[in-house]
This record gives sequence, C-alpha cells and structure tokens, in this order.
Amino acid sequence: MAYQHRDIDGNSIALPVGKVVCIGQNYQDHIAEMQSKTAPEALFFIKPATALCSFAPGFSIPSGRGAVHNETELAVLIGKTLKNASVDAVADAIWGYSLALDLTLREVQAELKKLGRPWEIAKGFDGACPVAGFVSKEKVAQPQQLAFQLQVNGETRQQGNTASMIRGINQLISEMSSHFTLQPGDIVLTGTPAGVGPLHCGDTLQLQLADLFIQTSRVI
Ligand code: ZN
Repeated sequence: MAYQHRDIDGNSIALPVGKVVCIGQNYQDHIAEMQSKTAPEALFFIKPATALCSFAPGFSIPSGRGAVHNETELAVLIGKTLKNASVDAVADAIWGYSLALDLTLREVQAELKKLGRPWEIAKGFDGACPVAGFVSKEKVAQPQQLAFQLQVNGETRQQGNTASMIRGINQLISEMSSHFTLQPGDIVLTGTPAGVGPLHCGDTLQLQLADLFIQTSRVI
C-alpha cells in the first residue's frame, strides 16, 4: 500500500508525501559510538519520498547488501513552506511529531565513506524510512524534552531524549531551509542517539515516544 501521512489514530493527514531531510551526528553518544569526525557545519542529507513506508503491519529490509542498522529518530512533519526560515517561522510551520527509523545499509555506507562518495544508496533505498503516525503539535507541550526508545525482540536497544540534541529541532530545520526549501508534507529527521545495530528478518520492534504513543512492528 502506498505510504500516506497518518495521525496516531490512523486518520490520513491532508498533506502530500514529500522528501525526508535528515541530519547526521546530532547526538554526542552516537558520534562517540561511530567514532565519527565532526565539523561545525551540520551534516544534512535527503531520503526520497519513495523511502517512506508505514510500520504496520511490518516493513522489509534489503537482503544481500550487508547489515541494515536501526536509527530511531524524532520525525517532524512540515505543514507549511519554509525557505531561509527563522526559528519562529519553523515553529509555526510544524504539523506534528512522530518517530521514524533512518534505516542504513551500514557496510555500504562505510565503503562509500572510505571512497569519499555520497551516501544515497546506503540511506535512500525504497523502504529506508518507516514512520509512525504523527501527533499534532498542539498535543506536544515540550518537543525538546521527549524521551523515546526502541526495543528489539523485547530488549531495549536505543534510549534517547530530544533534550540531548546538539542542534535543537527548530534550529536545525531553520538551517536546513537555507539549503533546501521544505514543502508541506516533507518530513525532517532529527538524528539518532546511540544504540544503532543490525536488524534481522523476524525481529519484533516496539518504538515509544514519551507518553504519546507506542508503535509495534516487525521486520518481514
Ligand atoms: Zn540518522
């Protein structure tokens, strides 16, 4: 079934499906686990709309291309056009919040990094961005203070809090909008905390965003 933005009750949201703009290296503990070199400039990249899929009833991962890693991230649905936007304009343009997986072909990405090449094929493949239903921003009092976690097969694999972001949500979206116009229906992924690791066919997943929702899924 084609992906469509939905709210947490499963109702479709009247916004088109657009691109996904992502930030790498936005949590110190993930930078440490990857032993990444950092720079003051933000590391932005894009997944195409064809990467989006739903968590229900399950999602598939590529086979035969090395490890596919989970990266659990706060997802932000954009409701209004943003270009060179101020942080205040960003706050006004946000439709709501959810969780998504920035699925990553880790071995492919490592090889590309070694060659100094872009990452697209490691992060932009079909189905590379499962996303849960969105909570409208009116129901989220403190988006910059949201605990979230991923359990795989009943064991906690990732635990984060949006308070630990290096660049805050509105700041990073403002910066993104100086490079790429964000359009209604685009999604922004805000980076992963530590705990990335390989997913396997048959894994059961549970994603929780504060006291807002719990989304279950499995790798099929
Ligand atoms: Zn990521």
